[in-house]
Amino acid sequence: MARQLQIAGLKVLVVEKHEPASEASAAAGGMIAHCDPHVSQSLKPLIAASAEMYPEFVRRLEGESGEFADLCDAGTIAWFDDNETPGCATARRLDDTELSRMEPMLRLREGAWFLPERSVDPRGLGRALTKAAKRGGADFVTGSPATEVLTADGCAAGVSTSHATYSGGLVVNCAGAWAGQIHPIEIPTRPVKGQMVCLVPQNVVPQSHVAHAAPLIEHVVRTPAVYIIPRSDGRVLLGATIEEAGFDKRVDPEAIQKLYQAGIDAAPALSSMRIHDAWAGLRPGSPDNLPILGETSLPGYYAATGHYRDGILLAPITAHLMTQFITGCKTDFDLRPFSPLRFGDNEESGTG
Ligand SMILES: Cc1cc2nc3c(=O)[nH]c(=O)nc-3n(C[C@H](O)[C@H](O)[C@H](O)COP(=O)(O)OP(=O)(O)OC[C@H]3O[C@@H](n4cnc5c(N)ncnc54)[C@H](O)[C@@H]3O)c2cc1C
Repeated sequence: MARQLQIAGLKVLVVEKHEPASEASAAAGGMIAHCDPHVSQSLKPLIAASAEMYPEFVRRLEGESGEFADLCDAGTIAWFDDNETPGCATARRLDDTELSRMEPMLRLREGAWFLPERSVDPRGLGRALTKAAKRGGADFVTGSPATEVLTADGCAAGVSTSHATYSGGLVVNCAGAWAGQIHPIEIPTRPVKGQMVCLVPQNVVPQSHVAHAAPLIEHVVRTPAVYIIPRSDGRVLLGATIEEAGFDKRVDPEAIQKLYQAGIDAAPALSSMRIHDAWAGLRPGSPDNLPILGETSLPGYYAATGHYRDGILLAPITAHLMTQFITGCKTDFDLRPFSPLRFGDNEESGTG
């Protein structure tokens, strides 16, 4: 969003608690899962538009930054519950012959769908976004959390951290699962923990897995038990748990073992790979699990959070719509279903 606001002519300061794109965005699988049956009706148009924007979004950011975001468009092979159908018209059923040709290593057969989806490496994308914003002139202050939005004449006028205050004509809260911790407006996000595992080929040392091992799996694979995301350098990610565990980001060996086993059950050949890494991240959930996009009850103070399981997918459209909204342009889609105000008056009692 910083980059998009800059392109619209705004001077941007990013106040970041740690390092940019190091939390949920670094933990994500990076599926651009716009065909998922679970997408809520009101979010469908944004999801479809965002998926459509992805190739150009990545191409531009890679060009601006020199970073590689590993956008893959091999598609997804998915199994859903009996009562579920994909949320995109171009999905199609796969018969056994076609499935064996496309992905010979899969054990699951009956009932497969092919979904014309993409995937991206969220860490590469995060580096690209950060570098593009820096090269475009955005300033970053990292290492301490914003604690409060400052006000002047009843409008947002900047933020303070424990070390300093920064003034600004408007403030956008993009603090993910932590968005609700910044005073004085309560933005009701909650952390939803997700754990993931990364596998690498046995004969590849971590530092050189860019050495391109032949991929065992070429498509993203989603079963009700696990999703499998191949990267172009031979790594394979298995994900992910969905846990209401507060702000606990510890990796649980039992959960990792379960994911690993579910991956092997779906594609036994994955047992030839070894676990290289495992991590947990906190998705920003909201009370209705829809994003929170728009102006809060404090004029000039905006929220862009609550993207829950689809924040990577929704990144381009969020940046685009929020920039339109903030700069006073008509937005391409109605943002009212996502307004922070839908949760009632969100100003904390007792604060000005
Ligand atoms: C395991 C897992 C798998 C996922 N897989 C996918 C997927 O395949 N596809 C998909 O679309 N989405 C996926 N997601 C969801 C996606 O990662 C999130 O929706 C998205 O990354 C949220 O982005 P964000 O920028 O709002 O939050 P974050 O990436 O968490 O960024 C919030 C930032 O705010 C900073 N911050 C927090 N508090 C403060 C403060 N007080 N002051 C200053 N800075 C602060 C943090 O340090 C962080 O950098 C997944 C998530 C997880 C955990």
